Amino acid sequence: MRRVYLDNNATTPVLPDVFEAMKPFYLERFGNASSIHHYGQHARAAVEKARASVAALMRCRPAEVVFTSGGTEGDNAGIFGLVSKGDHVITSTIEHSAVLNTCKRLEQMGCEVTYVGVNERGEIDPEDVRKALRPNTRLISVMMANNETGVLQPVEEIGKVAREADVFFHTDAVQAAGKVPIDVEKIGCDVLSISGHKIHAPQGTGAMYIRKGTLIQPLIYGGSHERQRRAGTENLPGIVGLGKAAELATEWLSGNGPAEMAAMRDHLQQSVLAAVEAAGVNGAGAARVPNTTNLWFDYIEGEALVIALDLKGLAVSSGAACSSGAIEPSHVLLAMALPHDRARASVRISLGKQTTQEDVDFAISVIPETVGRLREISPLYHKHTTV
Ligand code: PLP
Repeated sequence: MRRVYLDNNATTPVLPDVFEAMKPFYLERFGNASSIHHYGQHARAAVEKARASVAALMRCRPAEVVFTSGGTEGDNAGIFGLVSKGDHVITSTIEHSAVLNTCKRLEQMGCEVTYVGVNERGEIDPEDVRKALRPNTRLISVMMANNETGVLQPVEEIGKVAREADVFFHTDAVQAAGKVPIDVEKIGCDVLSISGHKIHAPQGTGAMYIRKGTLIQPLIYGGSHERQRRAGTENLPGIVGLGKAAELATEWLSGNGPAEMAAMRDHLQQSVLAAVEAAGVNGAGAARVPNTTNLWFDYIEGEALVIALDLKGLAVSSGAACSSGAIEPSHVLLAMALPHDRARASVRISLGKQTTQEDVDFAISVIPETVGRLREISPLYHKHTTV
């Protein structure tokens, strides 16, 4: 059975070149980067080479890169590291749970948090961020690209708001990295987090940018690794993989890769919408990363469509979350003022660097017929067609 994976915002496969780069570091080049002997020196050199590659992807200095275990850790470290009891934090209603649940914890710890909303295209208005400022605001944390819709946020304008108010700015760039250029100076952020497994490096790897001179409390205490910003023996093969993936991403971003990927995504989107009535794009009209589209198909359940497509060999996802036994529609789509039914009728399709035109054609061939079949058995659809 043919299987096509179009859920790259959930995770990406490790690219063959990344895997090849990592292999020796599991076998003969296994040293601890803190050791002073030959093995340690080789490990250290590999970590520093990877640091330079990640720095090039984010356009910062290598010394400003700290390796982490992934996006969740970077978000937690960036937020908890800058905020204390009594501080006020501004974030948005469409953040990933790695930020939202960290902010909920801050509230339990005696901080105040303002959650800024979005318009119906899923965009945050920097003016809303400015209006939310208070004398005790310490941090603004707003994502660069949304994981469900791919909508890019005006982080440069938000960075300006943060600078003018002299508050810290953290951005979760997990879904932007490797898809659009990142320039920490242009963004004006103090802390930025990325995740390895969204850019074809292994799961459980990641990095943070921490602006030089930023006083940030570590999340993890122990040895003096990562210039005392993140303790623990470095994940050597993982870091090497992340470095290689960052190198490939930087190369890809400077070529035709992004335009070609956006063209494939747009072709998929247009072909599906041309073949299915009562359907549309969530976040249409907004600037988006090139690999993501989020589509609604009225009268069906997104979860049911994900399962039906999986049975046909196509992997996509719905933003719905299972909470206390019930399927809750995506908080991102609800924040965009989608009616509950439409939010529940949405699926996310996300391409990766391994995605081919044939993969996209396969999706174009199976989505319309599967939506049609689900609608045939949907009482909601029959009610709609008989009135
Ligand atoms: N932030 C965003 C926007 C994400 O999409 C994800 C993962 O889906 C994360 C953070 C968490 O990253 P990780 O899986 O590396 O912990």
